[in-house]
Amino acid sequence: MNKVIGLTGGIASGKTTVSNYLKDQGFVVLDADEYSRKTTAKDGPAIPQIVEAFGQDILDEDGNLNRAKLGQIIFNDKSKRQILNEIVHPLIRQMMNADQEKYIKEGHVFLDIPLLFENGLDKNCDLIITVYVDEKVQMERLQARNNLSSEEAKSRIDSQMSLLEKKNMSDIVFDNNGDLPSLYKQVDKFANELKSM
Ligand code: ATP
Repeated sequence: MNKVIGLTGGIASGKTTVSNYLKDQGFVVLDADEYSRKTTAKDGPAIPQIVEAFGQDILDEDGNLNRAKLGQIIFNDKSKRQILNEIVHPLIRQMMNADQEKYIKEGHVFLDIPLLFENGLDKNCDLIITVYVDEKVQMERLQARNNLSSEEAKSRIDSQMSLLEKKNMSDIVFDNNGDLPSLYKQVDKFANELKSM
């Protein structure tokens, strides 16, 4: 039976790296961030409700969402952030579900969802994989990738659900403390096991 496999992790833990590798191996990976961008693209399904909630000024003269402006509005205002999430999340889910139903007929489907547990989407998966790193390695990679000070990196990590907690709630853990070949080896092993599931 084809499986729906949730792929999650923490900031800079290596989800995208695993996703890209799975795609290279021919697996279908549906990326929640990509769907999020689609819902808020020009004429995307979230735009009418966003305009209703935040005003016409939230679009630029070409009809594109002014992401910087929206970012400023929601950055320090929890209730506005919640309004945006309540608009966007159901649309993301609808679009992902439709694609999941389409692709599951052909094979296993991976769902790359950073906030899988936080949004209760773990319930929709047959298996859950967390890409795990120790905080020290996570800090180093996050700082290097985003050019952040250690204080900034630490505060971004601390604002998320603990990665250790996610690891403990998962069926499978890819340990990404080592180099890329070591990560890919774990993915290959899992892909091989999937054949007999
Ligand atoms: P986010 O959710 O924050 O976008 P992510 O979980 O998708 O992050 P990646 O972007 O895959 O994480 O990885 C974070 C950074 O660490 C990237 O710069 C990536 O190239 C690097 N990286 C990932 N795995 C390894 C590894 N095993 N060795 C060295 N660098 C790595």
